[in-house]
Amino acid sequence: MYSDIFKLISEYDKIVLARHIGVDPDAMASTMALKDSILLTFPSKKVYSVGSGSNRFNYFGKLDKVDDMVGALLIVLDTPDIKRIDGVNLADFSKIVKIDHHPFVEKFGDVEHINDAASSASELVLELINETDLLMDKNIASKLYLGIVSDTNRFMFNNSTGDTFRKVAKLIEDYKLEIDKLYEPLYLRPISEVRLEGYVGLHLELTENGVAYIKLTKEILDEFMVDAASPGNMINNFNYINEAIVWVFFTEDIKNNNIRVSARSRGPVINEVLSHFNGGGHKYASGARLMKMEESDDVILALDKLCLGYKKNMEGDNVEN
Ligand code: AMP
Repeated sequence: MYSDIFKLISEYDKIVLARHIGVDPDAMASTMALKDSILLTFPSKKVYSVGSGSNRFNYFGKLDKVDDMVGALLIVLDTPDIKRIDGVNLADFSKIVKIDHHPFVEKFGDVEHINDAASSASELVLELINETDLLMDKNIASKLYLGIVSDTNRFMFNNSTGDTFRKVAKLIEDYKLEIDKLYEPLYLRPISEVRLEGYVGLHLELTENGVAYIKLTKEILDEFMVDAASPGNMINNFNYINEAIVWVFFTEDIKNNNIRVSARSRGPVINEVLSHFNGGGHKYASGARLMKMEESDDVILALDKLCLGYKKNMEGDNVEN
């Protein structure tokens, strides 16, 4: 599969790299690292990384504006479905490649490499580079390292396998990565977000069966001087609360006129539930978009029911044992 992707990369002079809306470090890292690697290997090719950016990810490199994408090769990373691809019209391209680690949603590529057991899209790009003639340097290795660190939540999720650790160890050794320096741009944040995190901790509500949730309105975001993307940046910090096995943030997004839902789990598989609310994602890290805040109660109810079923199953297992 990787050789097929490399063959396509070799054949096309113009290549566009895209990823999902609501950019995150893995989406950014995987596209920018692949762009850098293609350019390092084939300096005369035109390679563009597109989509809406975020100032906080500027350290991964600059995004490109492309007027004419017709006839180019499109590589979509970290995105399982068409509706979540940012900034391109699939009909413009002569060939499409998908490289993804989300559970399969729909086919849109001529060549699709999907491994939902992989930790991150960055890990897949690392494999692509390792297994083909694409070149790597310290800059590319650094970006891939950050993408993997971010999507595994510093290797705490069970998507970090022995294989992930072996690949990362080799990256660190081969390219002499100074990991403490790399973490700074990834984890540095304004004090306004720390204050919001304090607010979330104080105001998280709990359902009977272990769903912790908070509804963050525009007024609350304004009070803390943060935007609608901020709560999603801190949701992983709310893992390992005794009373919560699922936790979910609802954030009013005035710019996009919807409610952002970010959910995490340390037990029940939640992406199936979120898919009923215009969402999806990974088994234990999912998201959705609602039209109105009132709909959040339905999400909470559905997740609470899921937790109840999960707890009953666990109790059953314990009794049998
Ligand atoms: P987030 O909570 O935004 O970090 O998202 C967690 C995971 O859910 C990521 O893999 C996202 O790609 C996915 N996700 C977030 N929002 C949606 C959505 N509206 N539809 C499908 N997947 C989503």
